Amino acid sequence: MSLDPARTVAELEELRELTGDEDGAQRVAWTETWEAAREFLRAKVAGTGAVEEIDQAGNQWFTLRGASEQALLIGGHMDSVPNGGWLDGCLNVLAGVEVLRRIAAEGEPPVTVRLVSWADEEGARFGRSLFGSSAAAGSMRDQEELRSLRDRDGIALPDALREHGVDLDGALAARSQLENAAAYLELHIEQGPVLESLGLPLGVVLGTFGVERSRFTWHGQAAHAGSTPMDRRRDALAGAAKLALDLRRIAAEAGGGAVCTSGGVVCKPGIVTSVVETAEQLLDQRHLDAATLASMLAAAREAADRFAAEEDLTVDWERIWRIEPILFDETLIALADEAVTEVAGASHRLPSGPLHDAAEVSRAGVPTVMLFVQSLRGLSHTKLEDTKREHLELSVRALDRLADKALARL
Ligand SMILES: [Zn+2]
Repeated sequence: MSLDPARTVAELEELRELTGDEDGAQRVAWTETWEAAREFLRAKVAGTGAVEEIDQAGNQWFTLRGASEQALLIGGHMDSVPNGGWLDGCLNVLAGVEVLRRIAAEGEPPVTVRLVSWADEEGARFGRSLFGSSAAAGSMRDQEELRSLRDRDGIALPDALREHGVDLDGALAARSQLENAAAYLELHIEQGPVLESLGLPLGVVLGTFGVERSRFTWHGQAAHAGSTPMDRRRDALAGAAKLALDLRRIAAEAGGGAVCTSGGVVCKPGIVTSVVETAEQLLDQRHLDAATLASMLAAAREAADRFAAEEDLTVDWERIWRIEPILFDETLIALADEAVTEVAGASHRLPSGPLHDAAEVSRAGVPTVMLFVQSLRGLSHTKLEDTKREHLELSVRALDRLADKALARL
């Protein structure tokens, strides 16, 4: 049986019929609809000879035994956000099924090939993303916090997991799944506008952005909006406003796709008749290079101090959250470039703004790479999410070529 990328598109359409409605995909993890998607996957893999196993974190694995225990992994996620798109996550899995069929038809592969559908990538119901992959990677360290998470109906996460055969306390035992992993491949829709703006169907992902999240609190003096002359004001919002605009310079100077966002400013007293006394400003900065990310943060703090002096304010800084950039494997990136160039004529390397399961696998030390396929209008997490049919088919071919090249290397 040779590779049939059109079949993948047909199966994606079938899955959309089965698990979506007029508002979009409804495959939220730990629900009946998600189980239906897993059952659908089970039926599609049947006949390849791959053996199914659900691990302690709820990840669904299909293993095609090879001559060696060493394993090539291909992964994605069947779960979606509520009212999600028809491709996010499941393109990766169903393209992986097609690759698995092609490999199985050629007889015993030189190494073991495994397809994984990670449990709860989106974190849509309980607000915790990358559940299954972080358990398998051994990086899940928030089990205490997870125990207290509840969904909108007040159902606790451990209870929801139990209904689907997962014991939260035992989830980290899923780590054994990565023991023989020699490489991990993931295809995903870009979910952004870069490839479309370049007119390219496919790209190779260099890694996932590191993130620095901060809170800047500006302190001025509340004063009457009518009686306080303009030159006598200590307006906390003026500092926040200057910093918000200066982020454009900071991102431009960093280059390399740097992004900085001032996503929220809360002003007090927050009434129309008073100068702002305090402004709490949230900042999100992202870059693929750890040193550049650190210098972006330093630049923002320096600028804040300068604006505080100019506006006669004080400013406090506090880190809210951070994550290191994750760089994918250079050898696999080179193979992915070859694969993409062979099927699409040209390749492009780009970072990923969103996190993916691949980041967790990479963090666990497994050589990893991702392929992106163009997203129309850069839209995702909405029913408007779409990719041209011919690009979807090319993406299946590229994943297959990449899997072949990786198998030859292992
Ligand atoms: Zn996804």
